Parts: sequence; structure tokens; C-alpha cells
Amino acid sequence: MAQEANGIGAIWDDIRAFGAGFKTTFKRAIRKPVTVQYPEQRLPMARRFRGLHKLLRYPDGLEKCIGCSLCAAACPAKAIRVVAAENTETERYSPGERYAKIYEINMIRCIFCGYCEEACPTGAIVLGQQYEIADYHRDDFIYTKERLLVPFPGKAKDDRPRYQRGLTDQGRAAEPQTTGAL
Ligand code: SF4
Ligand code: SF4
Repeated sequence: MAQEANGIGAIWDDIRAFGAGFKTTFKRAIRKPVTVQYPEQRLPMARRFRGLHKLLRYPDGLEKCIGCSLCAAACPAKAIRVVAAENTETERYSPGERYAKIYEINMIRCIFCGYCEEACPTGAIVLGQQYEIADYHRDDFIYTKERLLVPFPGKAKDDRPRYQRGLTDQGRAAEPQTTGAL
């Protein structure tokens, strides 16, 4: 008799265990899925996420980078190469005396530490939110100035350099000092 009672008790235990398992399954089945269908869907990155670099411009289109190489000096991975050149009256790229004629970042070396951004005196180089930088060839990981520089937002309206539009340094100084979406 006692053996029969033990058998029935074991069957009920099994049924309860099944019930608990299915309860969990059904609860999960009606919840909103957390899987993101990448690349059709993308999660927003955290505000402080450090992704692919950008070289910013002033609102008048001049480049913020003055070719000082402080970012290259601060880079622990020796990933940045800057070659500066002098601005002239007829060919001006930045408000300072010099600009970066060549600006390259080797993304294979980069560890996305953000030290370059910290070191930059003009806020020219920033790490943005872009993280899709996979590529097939090693050479394609050398990001040149042309690839890093943000497009001039005023390009559609007037893409002439500032000196050709008759703007002065005083005019520029009165404008906000930042541009380019991070
Ligand atoms: S994020 Fe760090 S490693 Fe990458 S270029 Fe800047 S300083 Fe160098
Ligand atoms: S990005 Fe900044 S620190 Fe680097 S060369 Fe340009 S101005 Fe200097």
C-alpha cells in the first residue's frame, strides 16, 4: 500500500515538474523578443561609446585640425600620422597657421582608447558611434583625412572656402565652436 502511494506521489511530482517547465516556456513565448535582427535593426550605442573617428569642421567649413600632432603623440598605439602644412592667403584649410595636409589613422592598430580626442586642443578629432569598420584588405584600414573629415554641412548652399566668402576671423569667432554630429 505504502509502495503504491509512493508511486502516485512520484507521478504527481513529474506532472508538477512538466507544468513548471511549460509555464516558463509559455511565459517566454508571449514576451517581446529581445533578439535584434542585425543588420536590418541596430541598437543605439551608449553616449560614451567610442567608435570610428571623425575630423570635425567649424560651422564655416574650415577644418578644426591645425596639424599640431598632439593626438599622434598621445596615441599609445602609434596609430596616427599627421603631416602639417602652412595655410596661405589663397589656400586656407584651418583658422590657424597650419593645417593637416595628411592625417591618417591605422584602425588595425587603434585600440579606441580616446586619448587622441582628449589630447586635441581644438576638439578636431572625436570618436563617433560608427562601429562597422570590417574590411577585406589591410590597406583599407588606413583611414585617410578624406575618409575621416565630416562633410561640410553648408556645402549645398555655398561650398567656397571662408576667405572666398569674405568672412573674417572675428566673424568666425562669433559663431558656435562646434559642428558635426557625434
Ligand atoms: S583612440 Fe587611442 S589608439 Fe586609437 S588613434 Fe586615438 S589615441 Fe590612438
Ligand atoms: S586632430 Fe587635434 S591634436 Fe591632432 S593634429 Fe589635429 S589639431 Fe592637433
